[in-house]
Amino acid sequence: LLGLTTSFIGKNIHYEESVESTQKIAHLLASKNVPEGTVVIAEEQISGKGRMSRKWYSPKYTGIWMSLILRPNIPLTKAPQLTLLTAVAIVQAMEEMTGLTPEIKWPNDILMNGKKISGILTELQAEADRIHSIIIGMGINVNQKKEDFPPELQGIASSLLVEKGEPISRANLIKSIFKHFEKLYLLYLDQGFFPIKLLWEGYAVSIGKIIKARTLTSTIEGRALGITDDGVLVLEDSNGVIHHIYSADIELRTG
Ligand code: ATP
Repeated sequence: LLGLTTSFIGKNIHYEESVESTQKIAHLLASKNVPEGTVVIAEEQISGKGRMSRKWYSPKYTGIWMSLILRPNIPLTKAPQLTLLTAVAIVQAMEEMTGLTPEIKWPNDILMNGKKISGILTELQAEADRIHSIIIGMGINVNQKKEDFPPELQGIASSLLVEKGEPISRANLIKSIFKHFEKLYLLYLDQGFFPIKLLWEGYAVSIGKIIKARTLTSTIEGRALGITDDGVLVLEDSNGVIHHIYSADIELRTG
C-alpha cells in the first residue's frame, strides 16, 4: 500500500490470496499479540463470516475483505461502539473515493440506494471482563457487476461499481478507510463516543423512522429515536414505551 498515511492502522498487513475467513486468521494473530492496527486482507474468502453464523459472499479480486485487530482499553460493554465507528470510517472513505454518500443501517450495514454494499462484524477476545483484542471484520463490495452477485443477493446487494458506474481502486479505498479509521479511533480514545455518535447519526438511515426490530426473543415495532452513548438503539413503540435494543435484525418501514 504505497502512500499509506497512518501511523499504526494498516502498518502491519497480513495478505492472503484465499482464506476461509479473515476473521479466523485475525483471531489467531490477535492471540499471538501482534501490534494493534494489524490487518488481515484476502483476495477471496471461501467461507466469509456475517453476524449470527450468516455467510458473507466474498468472491475473488472484486471486493475488500479484511479484519482489523484493536486493543482499546475500554470495558466490554463499549465494544459495539467500535462497530459504529467503523461504519463511519467506511462511509467517509466511500464519500472521498466516489463522491457518493452511503447510509448506515443500525448496527452494521452500509447501504446505497437501499442495497447493502458493506457489512461489519465485530468480535472479541476477552478475559473475565477485560478486552484482550477486538477484531473488526469488514466486507465491502467494490467492483462486482450486477450479474456477479448470486441470485439470493441480486435484490439486496450492490457494489460501488454498480452505484458509481465506474471501477474504484481497492488499494486507494483501503488506504482511505485506514486514514479515516485512525483519525476517528484516536478521537474516540481521547474524547469518548460522543463525537463519533454525532457523525454516525448524520449518516443513519433509520433514525426518526418506524422500524421493526426482531430480537432473539421478540419483535418490536416503533420509531427509532437514536442511539445511546453506548451505541444501543432506542425505539419508542406506539404506546410510548421506550425499548433499548442491543442486538436485532432491523426492517425499515415507511412512516
Ligand atoms: P441484514 O441486516 O442485512 O439482514 P445482517 O447484518 O444480519 O444482515 P451480516 O452479518 O451483515 O448480516 O451479513 C450477512 C448477510 O448479508 C447474509 O445473510 C446475506 O443476506 C447478506 N450478504 C452476504 N454476502 C453479501 C455481500 N457480499 N454483499 C451484500 N450482502 C451480502
